[in-house]
Parts: sequence; C-alpha cells; structure tokens
Amino acid sequence: MVTAPDQRQLLSIVVPCYNEEESFPALRAALTSVAAELEKEVLRVELVFVDDGSRDGTWGQIAAFAAADARVHGVSLARNFGHQAALTCGYDLACGDAVVCLDADLQDPPELIAVLVKKWREGYDVVYAVREHRQGESAFKRWTAACFYRLLRRLGATYVRADCGDFRLMNRASVDALGRLHEYHRFIRGLVGWVGFRTAEVRYQRRPRRAGVTKYPLPKMVRLALDAVVSFSSAPLRLTYWLAGGLMVVVLGYLTYVLINHFIFGGPLLPGWSSLILVITLFGAVNLFCLGLMGEYIGRIYEQVKNRPLYLVRQQLTGGDVATVKTTAHADSPASSSE
Ligand code: UDP
Ligand code: MG
Repeated sequence: MVTAPDQRQLLSIVVPCYNEEESFPALRAALTSVAAELEKEVLRVELVFVDDGSRDGTWGQIAAFAAADARVHGVSLARNFGHQAALTCGYDLACGDAVVCLDADLQDPPELIAVLVKKWREGYDVVYAVREHRQGESAFKRWTAACFYRLLRRLGATYVRADCGDFRLMNRASVDALGRLHEYHRFIRGLVGWVGFRTAEVRYQRRPRRAGVTKYPLPKMVRLALDAVVSFSSAPLRLTYWLAGGLMVVVLGYLTYVLINHFIFGGPLLPGWSSLILVITLFGAVNLFCLGLMGEYIGRIYEQVKNRPLYLVRQQLTGGDVATVKTTAHADSPASSSE
C-alpha cells in the first residue's frame, strides 16, 4: 500500500552545544514537550543538535537522544569552531520550512517557539525574539551588551537589531539567502538583518542559565564584537583621518605657542626634552593604534581569501538510526552546503 506523503510543514529547531552536559537533560525534556505541543498544530518537528567539539558527555547525550527519537539529528564538529560556525552548520543541515535557533542552556525559553511560529504563519519571514530583561546575567555583561549595540549603531551598522541574540525563527527563503553569504568571520545576527525580508518581533524575558557556566568568556565576546564591527562598518578606518586631523591641530597650536613665546616674550625656542618625548610617544602610539586597526581588517581579508571551510563534521547521526555515520569533511567553502 502506498502511503500519501506527509504534507505538514516542517519546523527545524537548531541547538548549538558546547560542553552542555549539565543543561542537556533539562533541554531534552523541554524540547520533547514543546515538540509534542507544536506537532498538534499540524507541524512536523526536527531537532538538530550541533556539538561544537565538546570535551564532556554532551555528544553521548545527543547520540542517546538520536537513538531514542527519530526526529533528532546530531552533528559532531571536528573541534570547537565557535558558536557562529556551529549555528551556520545547523542552518546548513536544517531541512525545515522554518528554522528556529536557540541556546542549549535554556536561557531562551523553548515555549516561545510557538509564539514565533504563530508570527511566521501570519506571513513574516524572520521573527526576532527580543530580550526585554536579562535575568541572571552580570551587570557587567548587560552593560557591555548595551554599549556594544549603541556603538554598532553609531558606527553605522544599522542592520544589527539591538537586544537580539540568535534566538529567532527564519523561513526557508531567508535561511537560503543567509546561506549565500560566504563570510568567514560571521556575525549571524547582523547578516540576518542584512538579508532583510519581512520581519516581526516577539519580546521575552531572558532567563538565567539552567546549569553550567557561560561558554562565552570575555575574550570570545570581544572577538565576536570585533567581528561585528569589522564586518559591518568601515568607520574605524576613517577614524585614522580624525586622529590625524586632531593631532595636527594640537601640534599647530603648540607651534604657535612656542613661536609667540619666543618672538614676543623672549622665551627659549627649544622648549625642552620632556615635551619632545611626549610628542614622539604620542605619535608612536597613534601610529601603532592605526596600524593595529588596519591589521584587523587585513587579517580578516587574509582569512577570507584562504577560503577554508567554516567547520568540519566529524560524525553525523540521523534520528533513530545511530549506525548512519558520516565521517567526511563537510562544507568545502563556508556555508556551501546550502547552495
Ligand atoms: N556555544 C557553542 N560554541 C562555543 C560557545 C558556545 O556552540 O564555542 C553554544 C553554547 O553551548 C550555547 C550557546 O552557544 O548553546 C550560547 O552560549 P552561552 O549560553 O554560553 O553564551 P551566553 O548566553 O553566556 O552569552
Ligand atoms: Mg547562554
């Protein structure tokens, strides 16, 4: 007997996981019940877990979930490629008519997915989950996040929506559009803004992390922030003109002072050693700063032209069939699998 193909729309839920063995049991329970609720709404659900080179038992837990539930797909990356690369892998592999990404630590409430789906069904292509309040995050993290988004706006990076993480729903067309962007240093929330499409917002209260510690320590946050600035603004390069102009004004002012002091008040023409050293040091520092700034851009151009894959897959499991293992390198060029 031939069974009719399942016409229900497919929703993919993508979760990047890095050393999340403590959060995973709660995540599994939450997603299982949310998937059951969503499936009542004439939807099929697939769960895509991307293990970003965890060194704890995360992959074992993902494999166990995949063995028990046919809707689960697990991907283990060859090493820790970083959150944005893991997310890209999830977007590449997700087959859904819509794709929702969320963090493994349950800071993004899975119950909100139903609200995102509702907006999608109203006809929106991208539905952002906007953080209204961030519980359990240090004042320092909240302050740096607020400053970061304001700074990006100031620098003209208008595509980056403030207070949005990577918790969002995207329809198939916008996911495919995102897959066409081959940037190596990815700041996905900015890229999603760049692709455009019809967007809607849903507000939510961000919860504290369920278990374990943040996998985004300060150096990783700084790197992401730099990627965001360099990818979306060339204003820092123009800063060198402003610095040069400002210093010219200071130097000309100082020269005028020395000349007036000498010719009108009979002061010495050589004002002394300390001011000379000060000026030399200042110029040296500004020069180095500008070189470093340009290095940020040039280094990224270099990384981009090398055209290395954004991530490599070590192992892939398809729900209910643990024997299906793929060990080949994936993605010849960043996000190539979505083309
Ligand atoms: N993550 C990842 N690779 C990394 C760092 C983080 O896949 O190199 C995942 C992590 O497991 C989590 C999500 O990215 O699911 C967000 O990380 P985290 O919750 O630690 O960041 P925070 O909420 O503290 O900014
Ligand atoms: Mg988190």
